[in-house]
Amino acid sequence: MIAAIDLEGVLAPEIWPHLGHHFGIQELHLTTRDVADFEDLMRRRVDALNRSGLTLAQVREVAHEVRPYLGAHEFLDRIRRQCQVMIISDTFHEFAEPVMERLGGYNLFANQFEVDGQGRIAGWKLRIRGQKARVVEGMKGAGFKVIGMGDSLNDLTLLESADYPILYRPVAALRERLPSAPTAQGLDEALQMFLQIFRMNGGLG
Ligand SMILES: [Mg+2]
Repeated sequence: MIAAIDLEGVLAPEIWPHLGHHFGIQELHLTTRDVADFEDLMRRRVDALNRSGLTLAQVREVAHEVRPYLGAHEFLDRIRRQCQVMIISDTFHEFAEPVMERLGGYNLFANQFEVDGQGRIAGWKLRIRGQKARVVEGMKGAGFKVIGMGDSLNDLTLLESADYPILYRPVAALRERLPSAPTAQGLDEALQMFLQIFRMNGGLG
């Protein structure tokens, strides 16, 4: 069994709005919960950072202040006994590695930035965008059952291809696309859903 879990909005707060608050940049408050087109969203974010003259190093330092949600570390610790944990996210490795360490050091599958000679963000390599379904299909092809959990439309393909999709405090548009999937409003509730799935699959629960 593999748990493929989204990061931002599920295990930790959204990183970009934290940057927006810190640097006073309005565009950075937009997230995948607000803008469905990720390329468009990223272009707006990067243009805003570059207009402010910020380097990746400066932005990264502030991104690293983000802490997991209370209980997120314990949630993963409880489920890891009965499944492999993979965090699959549209965030960026440069931003999220410290929060991953604070969550207990799980594997993160995310995107990467490209920087220019001045250290500014010049572009991004989307390793995850559009690949979530493929990652899940790969795990299933290797014989694993997959529990998927996410909160936004960018998790739709992950959730659609998972054996057991769980919507975590989902945006309305996601709930509309997957009306039969169970919805968790907190990590305690999500944990009960995971334990039930483990029991159905012959685990100790
Ligand atoms: Mg999310």
